[in-house]
Amino acid sequence: SKKLYTRSSLKKIGVMGGTFNPIHYGHLATAEAVRNKYDLDKIIFMPSGTPPHKSKKEIIDKKHRYNMTMIATMSNTYFEASDIEIKREGMTYTVDTLEELKRIYKNSQIFFITGADALCDIDSWKYLEKNFELATFVGATRPGIECDEVNQKINQLKQKYDANILNIYVPSLDISSTDLRNRIKKIESIKYLLPENVEKYIYKNNLYR
Ligand code: ATP
Ligand code: MG
Repeated sequence: SKKLYTRSSLKKIGVMGGTFNPIHYGHLATAEAVRNKYDLDKIIFMPSGTPPHKSKKEIIDKKHRYNMTMIATMSNTYFEASDIEIKREGMTYTVDTLEELKRIYKNSQIFFITGADALCDIDSWKYLEKNFELATFVGATRPGIECDEVNQKINQLKQKYDANILNIYVPSLDISSTDLRNRIKKIESIKYLLPENVEKYIYKNNLYR
């Protein structure tokens, strides 16, 4: 039988990494904007196991961060949550994740999505050059992160590593997990800043108190 024409066998897979402590509309809106702009086949939300760049004490159990990520991504058919990083022993390095994804999705182009803040800190990443070989990076603007600084950084990385880096302006949502955790501690409302079912999960499990 005749093979149906498909757009391309090369799948475009977005990866949204984060601590997701907790996940919020800033993460979701960024991922959706990137998916839409670059016509990605799906976005994998990847809660990190033990991130090397963050202080441990405020990070709640990965099981809860993963559950919240699952719940938050359910309503978008293009989104899914992955436990690849939370299952891996030791520190979480993106390079290990990208290699694993390349093994799983053999014929794919991986788009690794980061906020502008993460892009500015990228020099500290393990095997940075290898990261750029494995994936196209997408830097998303984030409120409060200077644009000139980010553009400069992108140009520098392109020159030094021959990196593929795209820059996208997403609707500014001035939401951060840090702010959400603080609000919860102070018993302030977090409504409309993250999905309602994630909010419920947080209260039900008494998180961030
Ligand atoms: P924390 O305040 O604990 O650092 P966070 O809100 O920055 O949490 P992370 O899990 O650290 O969330 O972020 C994961 C990724 O999402 C990072 O690349 C970050 O830059 C990006 N990101 C987070 N919040 C936003 C936002 N409001 N708009 C755009 N990108 C965001
Ligand atoms: Mg952060």
